Amino acid sequence: MFDEALSDNTAYGNLEYLSKKTPGRINGSPSAAKAVEFTRQALIEAGADSIWLQKVPVPSWERGTEKCKIISRVNGKAELSIAALGLSVGTSEKGIVSEIVEVQDFEMLKALGRSRVEGRIVFFNRPVDNKLINSFAGYGGAVNQRTLGASEASKFGAIAVIVRSATPALDDYPHTGVLRYEEGVNKIPAVAVSTKGAELLSNWLKSDPALKINLISTCKNNPDTWSYNVIGEIKGLQNPNEYITVCGHLDSWDITEGAHDDAGGCVQAIEMIRLFKKLGIRPKRTIRAVMFMNEEMSGTGGRTYAEEAKRKGENHYAALESDRGVTSPRGFGFDADGLKLEKLQSLSKYFLPYNIRDFDKGGGGSDIGPLKALGALQIGYMPDTQRYFSYHHSANDTFEQVNIRELQMGSAAIASLIYLIDLLDF
Ligand SMILES: [Zn+2]
Repeated sequence: MFDEALSDNTAYGNLEYLSKKTPGRINGSPSAAKAVEFTRQALIEAGADSIWLQKVPVPSWERGTEKCKIISRVNGKAELSIAALGLSVGTSEKGIVSEIVEVQDFEMLKALGRSRVEGRIVFFNRPVDNKLINSFAGYGGAVNQRTLGASEASKFGAIAVIVRSATPALDDYPHTGVLRYEEGVNKIPAVAVSTKGAELLSNWLKSDPALKINLISTCKNNPDTWSYNVIGEIKGLQNPNEYITVCGHLDSWDITEGAHDDAGGCVQAIEMIRLFKKLGIRPKRTIRAVMFMNEEMSGTGGRTYAEEAKRKGENHYAALESDRGVTSPRGFGFDADGLKLEKLQSLSKYFLPYNIRDFDKGGGGSDIGPLKALGALQIGYMPDTQRYFSYHHSANDTFEQVNIRELQMGSAAIASLIYLIDLLDF
């Protein structure tokens, strides 16, 4: 597996195509449609026994004009790099001109109360805690400002929110991502600001708390539309009605090539099919590569896949998701206990020659989550994630940020693990 993966450029070429020819694969976009067709072709070339598209309902949201200017009597004027949050409502063409209040979290917002918040923009400026070694924990500790900040601020009469990008990097890329409006709460516009922009704004507010912001973000929500999951499989020799799914998600945010998130995961899933076929390995169970649509906004791709599996009475043995970037492999996380976990961890010996050592409890992913109810073992592919959130959901997530060797090592690790767990019986 490793020899073949490390001496073939197909997956890297597929990644280049998805990044450069179908950037901004947001739900319902021409880029997403082109990516569906490209990966369908790539699965044919990889040698999948059958390939099909699965229709998925998806929300449709469109970015508009975006501008954010600080106007300060003390400091002058400055432009900030912003990006509207996915599913946000927009402002008018002229935008909003308002004072702004900075908070670190929802407690601080509550302490300020309606008298300080009403009619103003709220600026959520809690940074990612860089002391946390697990970069996903750092992200997780900061991201509720993005997902829930608009509704929380709206409860106190705020007219918009500006949220510090959920990234450990200090640069000028805004990092977008989805927000969730709470039902019954007035929807207000929400944008992410780059971390450098957040620092500047915070500094200016110290010397001029009365400064004003002119915020323009004319994004809008369109009616829901349709897109597709792309599925290719190799039929199992002994247990064709038992399934192992390996996946990434095909949609990305509109402002990025989405190379690490998650074209990389998609091309690794396709590469697994190619490796089995090229090496003439026929699995016991049916193995599938799935490119999910709409992971980013509302997860309908993963849910549709699990619903159809349930309806058809499919027996799902295991599912692996690669959606943590495609840097160097460290190992896998397993949602298992006891003897089952021990069995899985005993496989780590085969990976030691490749410096892949982390066979830990805890893993999975948002697209395979719905398969858990069908009994599928949840597996998360775990690469080194220290750089991931510097790219995540920003224009910095480009093809150039992916190293061919790291991508290949990951593909080989995934295909090897699937080969080995297919030999086991739980
Ligand atoms: Zn992702």
